[in-house]
Amino acid sequence: MSQTRYLWNPPPVPSLAVQGREERYPVCRLFFVGRNYHAHAVEMGRPVDKTVEVPFYFTKGPGTLVESGTTVAYPPQTRDYQHEMELVVAIGAPGFRVDQAGAPKLIYGYACGLDMTRRDLQLAAREKGRPWDLGKDVEASSVVSPIVPMPGTVLDRGALVLSVNGLERQNSDLSKLIWNVPELIADLSTFYHLQAGDLIFTGTPEGVGPLQPGDHIEGRVEGVGTITLTVGPAE
Ligand code: MN
Repeated sequence: MSQTRYLWNPPPVPSLAVQGREERYPVCRLFFVGRNYHAHAVEMGRPVDKTVEVPFYFTKGPGTLVESGTTVAYPPQTRDYQHEMELVVAIGAPGFRVDQAGAPKLIYGYACGLDMTRRDLQLAAREKGRPWDLGKDVEASSVVSPIVPMPGTVLDRGALVLSVNGLERQNSDLSKLIWNVPELIADLSTFYHLQAGDLIFTGTPEGVGPLQPGDHIEGRVEGVGTITLTVGPAE
């Protein structure tokens, strides 16, 4: 077997630290759930009626992944860069069209995540019915803490909080997810062949808001861990 030769060195495989392990978790795809807490849906001006609606998703390239503890530049082309604190599900086994009872078997573990967003560009796209990519698929905008292995475990309660410069901005509970973790895995698996390395950002609660260069973010999900991010100067 000859080794594949490339014109230049390909980018490294995106990966995350795993609590208690030397091996890292190789990241495949990044899925994000829109509007999954009622109070956030209301603050975004789009309430959710679960009896008639289904979850919706967007994706970001895995190259947007950065680890907790880093400093990211305030991104270009925005005046409204915002934080979204989320529970992240780390998939560890393949699944296609799994039902809710079978969904936990796909779970490798959990992490804290920040779905950083150019809100002004997201809302401008929403108004025009255009894709969200410029608002959401922002370089270095998918921030994730080390993964905590909890194979097969369904997290259905626990505080989720975020503060900026020590002042609390987001405070909710996983029990307030509109679509819970097994429901999300089962639904997403009707659209995609889920596979090990896929991350699902489960949505943010209310309290999202703008950031400035120099701001320091600290987030926490009860039973999972903490996440930090510092916003650096604009490039
Ligand atoms: Mn989000």
